[in-house]
Amino acid sequence: MSVWAIVPAAGRGERFGGARPKPFADLAGKPVIVRTLEVFEGSAAVEGVVLVVHADWLNDYRALVAQYGLKKVKAVVAGGETRTQSVRAGLAALGGAADVVVVHDGVRPLVTAAVIAAGLDAVKATGAAVAGVPVKPTIKVIDPKTGAIAETLDRELLREIQTPQVFDRKVLEGAYSRDRDGASDDAALVERDGVKVVVFMGSYVNVKITTPEDLVMARALLG
Ligand code: C5P
Repeated sequence: MSVWAIVPAAGRGERFGGARPKPFADLAGKPVIVRTLEVFEGSAAVEGVVLVVHADWLNDYRALVAQYGLKKVKAVVAGGETRTQSVRAGLAALGGAADVVVVHDGVRPLVTAAVIAAGLDAVKATGAAVAGVPVKPTIKVIDPKTGAIAETLDRELLREIQTPQVFDRKVLEGAYSRDRDGASDDAALVERDGVKVVVFMGSYVNVKITTPEDLVMARALLG
């Protein structure tokens, strides 16, 4: 099994602000994206990583990869306007030998090698597996017109889905080969193909850095 990772990090970060994209933000002495990539660097099963970044910052990311000696990063490519387009660009740059692909948000630096390993184990069942954690809050659906509560969901059946999301390469390429866009994760596209997607245990620490307070939380979690 040849495992590669695609790390999309090409978002505009509009909810974050700042002069530089949020993957450059400092997280206890290192940029967020370096922390993320170092987890893959230390994951024995992962052979290569394709980093997908905003076209305006290609050289800056390449410089970081060199500076931190991230040897598994085999390509740094430009992403697109949407996450879907960015992952598609990452797929096009995958190494020829790859047969399992781990997609992981560049802005989830607190993922662990153990979570990645759990995904590589889980993917064997159906060719598609995503990290998820049981939700802690009560989630309700609202009526879009009135904002009033339309439905209260059964918490026992809810999972907050994270990355890593792990796929057989053929499954992921199939899902992305069709003219689709607008999915906020990879599983959504694979689900549309009727593939059963397994949920494996992620981690409550595996936060996504979206707004500045998430960075405060990530710093605290790093200790
Ligand atoms: O925007 P969202 O929170 O869904 O972003 C999740 C991940 O996808 C982030 O790491 C972000 O940089 C990446 N992304 C991307 N290209 C885009 C939009 C998001 O690579 N056009």
